[in-house]
Amino acid sequence: MIKAFIIPLLFSQLCLAQEFTIKLNRKEYKIHEILSQYIQIESISGNEKNAGEWIKELCLQNGLHVTQMGSENGNFNLAASIRPLDSGLPNIIFLNHIDVVPVGDSVQWQYKPFSGRIEAGEVWGRGAFDNKGAAIVQLASVIQAGKTFKKSENLPYNITFLAVSCEETQCSGGAKYVADYYLKQLNPAVVIGEGPPGLKGIVDTDTSLSLFGISIAHKRAFWLKLELEVPTAGHGSTTPLSYSNRDMVIALNNVVSHEQPVEFTPINTHLLKDLGKLEKGIKAMALKHPHAYQGALVPKLREHPEVFSLLSNTITLTSIHSETDIINLIPGKTTALLDCRLLPNTNREDFLAYFKKQLNNDSIHVSVLYEMPPMHPSSDTTKFYKAMRDAIQYVYPEAAIMPIIMPNFNDVGVFRSKGIDCYSSFPIQLDLEHMKHIHNYNESLPIAPLMNGKLTYDKFIGSLMLYKE
Ligand SMILES: [Zn+2]
Repeated sequence: MIKAFIIPLLFSQLCLAQEFTIKLNRKEYKIHEILSQYIQIESISGNEKNAGEWIKELCLQNGLHVTQMGSENGNFNLAASIRPLDSGLPNIIFLNHIDVVPVGDSVQWQYKPFSGRIEAGEVWGRGAFDNKGAAIVQLASVIQAGKTFKKSENLPYNITFLAVSCEETQCSGGAKYVADYYLKQLNPAVVIGEGPPGLKGIVDTDTSLSLFGISIAHKRAFWLKLELEVPTAGHGSTTPLSYSNRDMVIALNNVVSHEQPVEFTPINTHLLKDLGKLEKGIKAMALKHPHAYQGALVPKLREHPEVFSLLSNTITLTSIHSETDIINLIPGKTTALLDCRLLPNTNREDFLAYFKKQLNNDSIHVSVLYEMPPMHPSSDTTKFYKAMRDAIQYVYPEAAIMPIIMPNFNDVGVFRSKGIDCYSSFPIQLDLEHMKHIHNYNESLPIAPLMNGKLTYDKFIGSLMLYKE
């Protein structure tokens, strides 16, 4: 089923990427200028409405069909599509979030965090990368698709820009609300969510090699609360044999001083082997055969928590609290919070049993504060994965591309848990230095790579529009 789409597609590719503009209030803006305006509308989690109304207007003025899915702070979500959702077409969905994390101490920022300042070839401010930058690149491609396929009949897919609330706090009014109440209407064939950019410096034997990971899976949050109550006489001058702070610290020490075992799964084994192909010598050999070289490999990998977190469940002690902070008073109750992240194949009951065994104190009450639903990784053999991989390879011919698992979760998990194929990639080239400023001071995004990001998404959409079994 080729024909009718070829001419508009070729035409769109002839339109030089640099000439692409987005309309707003009878003026035309480049991608980075729109991003600058988006950053200027504060949207810290739970306060998305103003920024949401702005992006909705932007979508409408650029010919997209908007469906509102909640319209209040903490529940402001919208789908903007090239065809109305009631056309019932299977949908290629670009998922992003309107909210940003707080700015911290604004004095620490070189430019005001909501200035959206354009300076030294970059756009500055909270959300420049996460997630407003990625969102505007997605939107540019959806608008482009709207123009390219405006007159095409019998499209195989609708294309949708889906902006949601409070990804950062995982509140109930964001992606979860959309998936619970609008999934049928959205009819997702695939969801493309926020993911890693292309990075150099990952592969030791060739630090100039650019590596693009397409995320096909993520670890799921499993947040635990520990409570221990031990009645005491209360005065600090006489140390009781047992009291809650002491017993909690001993139990927590059992857990956090224990090295988490490595768990080779099909995805992380595949990832190590892919990395092995890019390395040289003994390192290449060990990575290509992780089981055989486990004894030498695992201690080395442990030195890199960002890598090791992909090979094991993690347990991080994030808070310890006792009911008093008076120095000579022994508290009767101690509480601790632990941020645990589970590999996709880990069973919650098995993990809880393992955790309690490590804790070795049956008096501690363990409750699960929050957990993401279990989910299957998305396959790296679907036409959607291949289309994304090929699009990246087309725009970045020298780059290496591989399926990866992410240590953190984001909103794609909501859709993945419903059995929908989800892939995450922000296909721009970025350096590691920029990554350090995400969720931190001085977040910024260089302007130069943005057009390549759009071009990659354009190629991805274009190849899927030409292809249908
Ligand atoms: Zn984000």
